[in-house]
Amino acid sequence: MAEAEDEHWIVRGKCRTVGPDELFVEGAAQNRAKAFCSGCPVHATCLAHALDNRIEHGIWGGMTERERRALLRRRPLVTSWRRLLETARAEYERSADAGESTTDERTHLITSEPMRWSA
Ligand code: SF4
Repeated sequence: MAEAEDEHWIVRGKCRTVGPDELFVEGAAQNRAKAFCSGCPVHATCLAHALDNRIEHGIWGGMTERERRALLRRRPLVTSWRRLLETARAEYERSADAGESTTDERTHLITSEPMRWSA
């Protein structure tokens, strides 16, 4: 990903049109917020940003703070979530181009969350 593009990923987020109150919610409202992230064109970048920067509040990349904490505990040796998720995405796109399974199993194993690459 080009540096200039990376700096501006957040303006491409699906949530750019909603207020922060929509994604910084508690309880059952978190499921609605997570669903909102589905299909966001910068879903993986957003999640990686939250994981790499240990952001503790809000829904980022379709994961709650609790889910991110659990993921960080499960994968303590990951030094760059951005690199890991970009690699998974590249492999997914390569396998999709090759006509192999389009199920994103690798990323699912990484995050235990289905990841939808739409960018
Ligand atoms: S994944 Fe969710 S929180 Fe992140 S930019 Fe997209 S809509 Fe916003």
